[in-house]
Amino acid sequence: MSNPFFQPPSGTDLPRYAGVPTFMRLPYLGPDDPRRAEVDVGFFGLPWDGATSNRPGARHGPRGLRDASTMIREMNRATGQTPFQAMNCADLGDVAMSPVDQDEALEAAQSFVAGVLAQDITPFMAGGDHLCTLTVLRALRAARGEAFGLVLLDSHTDLYPAYFGGKTLTHGNPFRQAILEDCIDPKRSVMIGMRGTSYNNSDFEFGWEHGVRIMPIEECFQIGWPQVMAVAREVVGDGPTYVSFDIDFLDPAFAPGTGTPEVGGPNSFEAVHCVRALRGLDIIGADLVEVSPPFDPSGNTAWLGASIMFELLCAMQSP
Ligand code: MN
Ligand code: MN
Repeated sequence: MSNPFFQPPSGTDLPRYAGVPTFMRLPYLGPDDPRRAEVDVGFFGLPWDGATSNRPGARHGPRGLRDASTMIREMNRATGQTPFQAMNCADLGDVAMSPVDQDEALEAAQSFVAGVLAQDITPFMAGGDHLCTLTVLRALRAARGEAFGLVLLDSHTDLYPAYFGGKTLTHGNPFRQAILEDCIDPKRSVMIGMRGTSYNNSDFEFGWEHGVRIMPIEECFQIGWPQVMAVAREVVGDGPTYVSFDIDFLDPAFAPGTGTPEVGGPNSFEAVHCVRALRGLDIIGADLVEVSPPFDPSGNTAWLGASIMFELLCAMQSP
C-alpha cells in the first residue's frame, strides 16, 4: 500500500468539481519537493503545439485533461485494480515550453524529463502535440543507454519526412526521428490503427524498411482487437517498452477535439480494451497526446483522454 499522502481525495469527501485540479486529484509536487523521492509514477504536462500541421490547440491539453480527470475514481472495477494504492503517483506540474521557439521548447521538455528519470520516476506525459513525445523518448534513451520497444495507438504512423522541404520536425514525424536517433528499436515497435488519406506511402515504406509492424485499421477490424493486441505483445516482447497514445486513434465520433481527426476508427470501449491488453508488459513510460480543448466544446474528448490515462496507469501496475 502506498503512502496515504499520495491518495487522491475521494469524491465522497470533497466534491469532484471542487479543489484545485491536478491530474486525477493527485498531490502536486514542485521541482524541489523532497517527496518526489517517493514517487513511482509522475504525471506532467507538456503544454505545447508548435509542431502541429493543421488545427492547433493541444497546448491547452494538459489543463483540459487535469480538469476532466477529477472525475476519475479510485477503483478500476473491470480489472479490480486500485492503482493509487499500489503505486505512489503525483502531478509534477507543467514544463515551461516556449510557444514560439521549437528548439528551446524541446530542450526544456527533454531536460525536465531527464530530471524525472534521475529521480527514478516513471514518466507519464500529457500533451501537447505528438512531437512532445520525442523529448520523452530522447530522455529515456539517454538515461537507459539503449533503444527500447514502442506501442503506438494512433490513426497515423508519424513516420513522415520533414514538411515544407526543410528539416523542421512536426507532429507528423516524431517516430521517424526516434528511429533515426536510435531511441526506439523499430523491430520491437508496433503501430496500430492507421487510416485516412495520405500524401503518399513514404511513412509506411520507411517503417517497413526498418522492421516496424504497422497495423492499418482494415487489418485491425478484420482480425479483431484481441488478436491485434496479441500481435502487439508479440512484437514488443518482454523488454522495456514505451506506450504512446494519440487521442486521434479513436473515431472522431468519440474524440472530435483533436488536430487531425480521421474517420473509421475504434470506439471508446475498443480503445479501453486495447490499453487493458497491455498489462504485464515492461512499460517504462507512457503518454496521452493531441487532445485539443478548443475543438472540444463538450469536453468529451478530454474526458476520454483522462479515462485512457487512468487505464494506461493501470496497465503500468505490476501484475
Ligand atoms: Mn500522432
Ligand atoms: Mn494521429
